[in-house]
This record gives sequence, C-alpha cells and structure tokens, in this order.
Amino acid sequence: MNISTWRSWAAPALLAGSALLLAACGDRQPQIAEPEGFAAVDTARISTASGGDEWLTYGGTYDEQRHSKLALINKDNVNQLGVAWTYDLATNRGVESTPIVVDGTMYVTSAWSVVYALDAKTGAEKWVYDPEVDKAVGVKACCDVVNRGVAVYDGKVYVGVIDGRLEALNAETGEKVWSTVTVDQSKPYTITGAPRAVNGKILIGNGGAELGVRGYLSAYDSSSGDLVWRFYTVPNPLKQPDGAASDDAFVKVGNVTWGDEGAWTTDGGGGTVWDSIVYDEVNDQIIFGVGNGSPWNRTFRDPSGGDNLFLSSIVAVDATTGAYKWHFQTTPGDNWDYTATQTIILADLPLGENGAARRVAMQAPKNGFFYVLDAATGQFLSGDAFGPMNWATGLDENGRPIENPEARYGKAPFQQLPGPLGAHNWQPMAFSPDTGLAYIPAQEIPQAYAEDPRFTSRPTGWNTGIDFSAGVPPIAPPEVAKMLRSTLKGRLIGWDPVARAARWSVEHENAWNGGVLSTAGGLVFQGKLNGDFVAYNAETGEKLWSHPLKAGGASGPGTYMIDGEQYVTITTGWGSAFALAAGFGYDDKVASSVGKVVTFKIGGTQEIADSGLTPIEKTPKGEAFGSAALIEQGSVHFARNCAVCHGPLAVSSGVLPDLRWSAIAGNKDAWKGVVIDGNLAANGMVSFADYLTPDEAEAIRAYVLAQAYAAGNQSGGQ
Ligand code: CA
Repeated sequence: MNISTWRSWAAPALLAGSALLLAACGDRQPQIAEPEGFAAVDTARISTASGGDEWLTYGGTYDEQRHSKLALINKDNVNQLGVAWTYDLATNRGVESTPIVVDGTMYVTSAWSVVYALDAKTGAEKWVYDPEVDKAVGVKACCDVVNRGVAVYDGKVYVGVIDGRLEALNAETGEKVWSTVTVDQSKPYTITGAPRAVNGKILIGNGGAELGVRGYLSAYDSSSGDLVWRFYTVPNPLKQPDGAASDDAFVKVGNVTWGDEGAWTTDGGGGTVWDSIVYDEVNDQIIFGVGNGSPWNRTFRDPSGGDNLFLSSIVAVDATTGAYKWHFQTTPGDNWDYTATQTIILADLPLGENGAARRVAMQAPKNGFFYVLDAATGQFLSGDAFGPMNWATGLDENGRPIENPEARYGKAPFQQLPGPLGAHNWQPMAFSPDTGLAYIPAQEIPQAYAEDPRFTSRPTGWNTGIDFSAGVPPIAPPEVAKMLRSTLKGRLIGWDPVARAARWSVEHENAWNGGVLSTAGGLVFQGKLNGDFVAYNAETGEKLWSHPLKAGGASGPGTYMIDGEQYVTITTGWGSAFALAAGFGYDDKVASSVGKVVTFKIGGTQEIADSGLTPIEKTPKGEAFGSAALIEQGSVHFARNCAVCHGPLAVSSGVLPDLRWSAIAGNKDAWKGVVIDGNLAANGMVSFADYLTPDEAEAIRAYVLAQAYAAGNQSGGQ
C-alpha cells in the first residue's frame, strides 16, 4: 500500500478520533483539527483531494506535478474548448498567478499582491483584498511586482506581499486575520512566490538577490502567524549561529564553502528561496530551491572562490523542525544568476533495482541541466543538458558541472548560454505519470557577461558586479534590437527523465512562454508569449487546439471540475523579468495588456475583451542633444541604473514607460525632477540622487533621445 492510498482511508478516521480527543482535553493542535466550514482545507485534504476536482495548492498537488486526474477534456474533444468566462484583474503589470480552487471558489492574485476570490463556475467576484503596498517598493522588485498565488488552509487564504508581509485572510470574507512582516523591510527583500501550507505551517521565502539580501525559508503557524522555524541559505557574515534551524547545516557543510571577506559579508550573499517549495509527504520533509549569489559575480562576492552553499542548491529539511537533511548544489560558486528555484517535482520513476519504483525529485534549473535526485537522500541520479549551452560541457559522476573556463568571465564579455533568464525560469514545469514525461517550458536567452570594473555595492538598485553595457554599442538602431530579439528562442520539451532525453520538442516563435498543465486527458496546456493558449498531445507534442488570449500567457494553467463540467484556467498579462529587462520591444507582438483570468470549458462561447489600452505614440518628445562622448557616458549609466526596468538599449516592452517616447525625456527640468528629485516615487520610480549626479542624469537623457532618433523618428519605430 503506498502512502497516498493509506492516507485516503486512514486520514478521515484519524481526524475524527483526534477531534474527539481535542474536545475531551481542550488541547490546541490546529494541525490535526478536523476541518469544517468555509475552505476547510488541511494537509490530509490537500494530500488526497488535490489533482482531482479541485486545485488545492500551487503545484496542483504536494508533489507539484501539475498533473490533473481529470479527463473530461481530452484529445477527442479539446477542439470544442471555448471561453467560459473571463475576469479583469485590473493591472497592466505582470501576472504570474496559478489559481487555487477550493469549494467552488477560485483564489487568484495579480500584481502588487492583490488577492481575488471568484466564483470558479461563473467568474463572479466574491471579494477583493488589496494589501495597499507602498508603490515605492517596486524599485526593490527585480522582476516586476508579480505574485504567483496564494495558499488556502484552515479557512484562510495566505498571501506573500511584495513588501515582505505574509498575511492570512478569512477565505469567506477576505478580511485580514493576521499579518506578519517576514523580512527586514529596510533591505531590498520582496515576496513574489506562493506560500505552501503543511501541517499547520505556512511556508514562505523571499526574493532580492539581484539587489543584495540574505535568503531564507520560514515556517509560520497558520493560526497565529508566529514564526516556527527559519532556515537560512547563506551563513551570517561571522559564520556564527543564528539560533535558527540552519545552524547545524552551516557547521556541518556550509561555512567552509565561504571565505571571510567579500561583498557577501555586507550584501547578504543572496540565496533567496523565491519560488519552489515542495512538501515530500513520504519523507516528511520540505524540499526547496535556492537562488543565485549576491552579487552575481563571485569575484566580488567571495574572492576566496568557494562553492558558497547553499546558493543554487536544492535543499531538504525536516518538515516539523526545519532541521537540515540533505542538499544538492546545481551550480557551485554561482557566477551567472543560475538559480535552482525552478519547479521541483516529486515522482516515482522506475529507477530502483530491477526497475522498481524510486521516489525522485526533478528540476530543470536555469543552468540548463535536467536533474533527477533521490528524494530521500538527495543522491544525484542523473543530469543532462535539455538545450544548448556553452558554460559547461557536462556533469561529472557527482553531478558537478564541468565548466568551460571562459564562463568565469573577466572584463572582456563572454557571450554565454544560458543567460541570467535561464534555460528555464519560474514558469511551472509539469510531469505526467501517464506518459512519464516532464514538460519543460525551455528557452534560449544568451547574455554577454563581463566584470564591472566600477562595481561597488549600493543600497538601491541591482548589485551584480556585471557590466550590462559591455559589448553593447552606445547607439543602437532598431536593427540591433531586432537582431538581439532574433537570437532568443523558446520551446516546449517533452523530456523523458528515465531515458534522459527529449521525446519531443516544439519550437515557439519567442522566448519566455508560459507554464505547463498536464492532464489525464492526454493533454498538455501552455500559454505563449504571443498570446496563444495551446493544447498539445502529451505523447507526441502534436498541437491539437489553440485559442488567442489577447495577452501574454506566462503563468501556470490549472484545471478543476464543478457540476460535472471540467474547466481549464489561466491568468494572463504582460510583464515580469523578461518584459522589463530583455523584451527588446515585444509590445508590438503582444499588445500591452490588462491582466485577466481566462477560463475555458467545452462549448464555451464567451469573448475575451480587448485591453482597451491606448497605443503609445512612438515619436521623440524633445530635441536630440549632446556630444558623442556625453551620449556614450549616458549609455553606461543607463545600462547600470535603468535597463533592468526600462529595457536594454532603452527599448521597453510596454510594461514600464519606454523613455524614448516619454514627454519627461523631452524636458530637462521634468527629467531631473523624476530621476534626481523623485517626483514619481509614489509610482515606484524613486530618486536616484544617491547614485547619479544631475549631470549624469542629463547624460542619460541625451542617450535616451539619441536612441529615440536612432529608431527613425516615425510611428512604428520599435
Ligand atoms: Ca536572480
């Protein structure tokens, strides 16, 4: 009898017994109290009911396979899918949320951590909760002010807020039950990931390693919001105990992998746990993915050249205490923003003796290798490149990358694949136990890495130690942006983790496509950057159906059943890291769009409304000025301070203003008012007076206008 079967019959009996016991002795043990009332979700229910009619946790089930047992929508009738309903999320910032569906209610988030409760059958709004974030926090968000979803547990909805709060809401009314600050808000921490709920604890990490923080995973009491345990992923600067669950791990394995000096001792070292957090029921442990180093460039972060545990690692800890169990580091001595935060999926694969089932953890992190680890021990079982790469030639027998020495770049740029956006990013991967395939939303986005000789850590803005202006011409005509865009590729790969090879692969028009849903109907669903929502044959990759979303479809789709009808749902929008920092003008491909929930069913006949946004007039609003030297100086300052939000080469993708067409760029005083005086801080554009002199700000304006005129001074210039 496997564990899930055991739970399905034993859990209700145990719970009934414990409820009696509780009534008798009055003890308070919320983790085993029998759930009742609205959104009465507990660990047993997530364990047994999810993946069927409901979608109870971010990854669909605790194993996070994003595979549904529903098969009413299948290969034979998927061509009859139509829109059942849509709901307007009232944002034109990035949307990455996977909806949670429980008791007929859908809980979904949008930008700025706003939570919506909707009737899952009709899309009718039940309540909206806005945590009213100070928009100035936006400058801390490396990758747009996104949110990937909520957890629902014990009658409450839990949301990680972009400013570092974790909040519990009454699932029926949306009223706040408790709120706790999980980070030092004086530092550039953010939360974009979905909490997970396990045995009366709410698990949440954070982001901020592009700017400079020390990462950790925390477990909070679901009833009170009190901290239960915390696991840091980087030692503190003195390598002293924190009084945290991670103390032992640093004594055992972590401390020796760090030198005593370098920017990590002041910037925190990075290692943020910003996405994947998985409950392994069989081994009663939490397996989570750890992000990149801070700064990215190890030369500055830790000149001693150590592996820097637990950066870029998959780590397992005891679910009750947070005590260290094992780790596997995908990218020792990270130098490239190669996070291992990507989807971790647990599954049984025939990798034991004589083909017996073996429980494994699988991940396709940014570094481009697909890893299979033993879930109980973390033992490396296999790792294979799932796309082109030039940073490593393979893995050794322990799973350690065999690096290309050129990848440890110096001041001369090295054009590397994958780049910091990864061979796979946050877009959820899926796994089908029916086909035995993992479905990887893969991409090719190279990056020229070069050391920034001017690097010093700063409290606002990115601290990577990388010169983003290296190898980029100061003035780039539209052809350069087009050429750069053409080097980016995306595909959906049906990857066989036993055969260690792709069984099929579908090439997309663009990079940065959506997460994947697998179903027992023999289908995999994926949204695409170009706005198509597509169903593929899970066995072959054959495209069976597609429907325009009128917006980018990047998030993880979900599915559920109500009153005998199966629904497939996806949140849409345009934004996130790619749009801000690497889109090269994709606004022409995917019209700047308002985020929506779009839900499909067989025979649905609704229409998706147009965004209603007015296209921007693409003409310069001021006169070009400045010498070539001034413009070049401006280009360097732009690359360092502006490009990660307003786009490389000053070519925005429509989420944040394209400065080339901004009236503010046409006016010296208005420009200074924003860049130096912080006149738009309330919108998230804080003052850069600490980092730029007024003259340097003016050099940036000269550069921006030069780029505007280089684009041809005509409507349609991109
Ligand atoms: Ca990162």
